[in-house]
This record gives sequence, C-alpha cells and structure tokens, in this order.
Amino acid sequence: MPNACLRVNSMSPQSQTYQLSGTHLVHGDRGSGSEAAPISVASPFRTVSHGDPKGVEAMDPDKHIYSRYSQDVTSRVEQILSKVNHGYAVTYASGLAAAFSALVHFKPKRIAISRGYTGCHGAISTYTKGRFVDTPIVDLDDEFQEGDLCWLESPLHPTGESRNIQYYADKIHAVGGKLFVDSTLGPPPLQYPFKWGADCVLHSGIKYFAGHSDLFCGILVVKTEDERKQLWHDRAHMGNIMGSMDSWLLIRSLRTMHLRVSRQSASGTELVQWLSRAVVPEGQEYDGIPGGVITKVGHSSLQETDANGFNPSAQMEGGFNAYFSILLSKEEYAEKLPHALDHFHVPATSLGGVESLAVQHIRTDPKENPLLVCLSIGVEEVADLKNDLRRALVEISKGI
Ligand SMILES: *Cc1c(COP(=O)(O)O)cnc(C)c1O
Repeated sequence: MPNACLRVNSMSPQSQTYQLSGTHLVHGDRGSGSEAAPISVASPFRTVSHGDPKGVEAMDPDKHIYSRYSQDVTSRVEQILSKVNHGYAVTYASGLAAAFSALVHFKPKRIAISRGYTGCHGAISTYTKGRFVDTPIVDLDDEFQEGDLCWLESPLHPTGESRNIQYYADKIHAVGGKLFVDSTLGPPPLQYPFKWGADCVLHSGIKYFAGHSDLFCGILVVKTEDERKQLWHDRAHMGNIMGSMDSWLLIRSLRTMHLRVSRQSASGTELVQWLSRAVVPEGQEYDGIPGGVITKVGHSSLQETDANGFNPSAQMEGGFNAYFSILLSKEEYAEKLPHALDHFHVPATSLGGVESLAVQHIRTDPKENPLLVCLSIGVEEVADLKNDLRRALVEISKGI
C-alpha cells in the first residue's frame, strides 16, 4: 500500500502494548500538509494531470478522485484512528451506518445479540428485512453455530455494566463465527477489544472521539489491510462515508481525546463510588444524600467477579466508563431528577461529550424501566457535579 501511515503493528494482540498516545492524536496525520487540517469540502478532484495518461488508482488514500471514495481530511482522520485503535479504521456517516456496513461485510447466517443500544437492533432489523434468506436473531447465551456473528456491546446501554469479551470470543470462535464488539462506551484508552479476541470493533464517533456533541461519525476497526480494503469498496458503493466537515471537526476533537476521556472516566468513577455509598435505607443519609432515594448504581467499577472469574477491571485497563445508571425508588424521582440538575444537559439522547448529561431512560426507550436514570459525565469539576447531584437528590426527595 502506498500510504505508510496506515501500516500498523503486526504483532500478536497479546504482545502489543495498547495505549492512547497523545503523540499519535496530535501528529498521527503528519505528512499530508499543514499541522491543522485545512477545511476542504471539494468532491470531484482532478485525477489525471496533463501528460499523465495513467490517472490514479481509487484505493490510494493520498490521491483523491471523488469524495464518496476518499478525500484528504477523511484520510487524515483515518490515519489517526487506525493508530489509536491499533488496527485499520474506516469511517462512516454515523455509528449506525458503520453497524449496517459491518452486517453487509460479515453476511452472518444468524446474529447473536441481547439488549444494548436500541439503534443497533434497528440497524439489524433493517438489514435482515432486505435479505432473501432468513437471518435469525438469537440470544448471546444460546448455543452458537458456524456462520454466526456475535454482536457484543460492552460496556452496555443502559446499565453501564461490562461483559466478558474474551468469554464470547472463545465461544464464537469455537464454532467458526466472528465476534463484533460495539465498544462505544469504552473508547481508547479505556479498553481495547482486539486484545480480548474481537474480530471487528465499532465506535459511534459522535460520542467520545468527537466529544463536543457537534458531528456525526461511525468507525469500524478491523485487523487486516485486506478487510479494510473490502470495507472501503463497500463504503464507496453504499455511499456512506463520513462528511468532509464532520471529518474536519473530528480531527480538531482527536487532538485532545486522551485528556478528555481519562478525565471523564476518573470523574465518572468517582461519582459512581460516591453515589453507591448513598444506597442506604430511608431515614439514613450519606454525605448529605438522603437514603431511600437511590436503590442501585450500575457501573463496571461496581461489578463483582462472576462465576467465570470475570471482573471488568482487567478488560477496562485504562479506566472505567464515564457513563452509568442509577435506579431510583420512585418513578416520580426518576422523572424529576434530570430536570432538577443544573450542570447536566437534559434530556440527553447522546453521551460522551464534554458536558455532562442526564436522562430518564424511558425517554429514549419506552420499553425500559421507568425508574432508571442514565448519566454521562463530562469534564466539569467533579466537586460541582457532586454538589449539583446532592442538592437535586435532596430536592426531589422533599417533593420540591
Ligand atoms: C450512539 C450509539 C450507537 C449509534 O451511533 P450513531 O452515531 O448515533 O449512529 C451505537 N452503539 C452505541 C453503544 C451507541 O451509544
């Protein structure tokens, strides 16, 4: 391949060091022009210069023909994303466009999926509707068969708890199937699903990679150049490449991703630990939070080692997720809490941005538990977020 920047380490997943390098985020797209990427919204490019009868090859990411295939700012973004995801990254117009493209790529005989982000279930049903053969949907805990695609989301919507990636990798590989991991809630440096046996990784880039709630992007990461080429060709013909302006905004965002995500993870985990201590009976209190209001906090950091010996702390080597859930004792509390908060945006269908968000989950999925509130933690001062939560919890418990 002509583009040396897209070449990544070919060592085995276990022997590689996985980290989110600030140097890669800041300089990973060097060699293709200025330090800050220029805004470019060009679509057709001049491909054949006078006197050069050969023209260019569409697969060369440095030579652009038509922005449905590639263009400079998107290729720059993909160079950085390939490095920081330790694989080969291809970008899409949205997370769901990436999810759909993965289905087209894997052509599964059956799909094993349980719970998780509602939109992915929608993408799967849209995909299966368009097929002539039945593509049954089975549960993650059912027996797997050859040709299955195991679709694993971890950490998981809406609870914020983790699943054992290695366990599902072993289970699906034993029958010759593939493991697809939706790692949106666990971006680098929090976890690296390839290390635990994933075959393909999805990120909804609008969440932590973008971090500023202002662009749309989906990312698929694969392990070989050959798979990248296949995805690239499919994308060229499905026409679902990420837009130029979004690519430009994403480069801007990536420069600080390591600072944002680590901070969000640390603040989120601190809040989780603090709130979990307030799960006390009515009449008691913890640090000013009245008891009897919160009945459970859901988060990877609170998960105990399970029967298979799984504990999320090894899998989430770079920090726990910055997204978690709390279960309240009354529906009225869950309805009021997000609105009683000053430093959290409401209602929040998205997550992962620099601003904290809170939503009663039933607002985004009517089938969910009305007592559940989901919180995404941003980069505000954690002391302010605590004060805000404490005050709001006191107010709702008094019916203010
Ligand atoms: C947001 C999200 C998606 C979908 O991504 P879009 O960019 O909104 O299309 C998929 N999976 C998870 C876990 C998400 O949070």
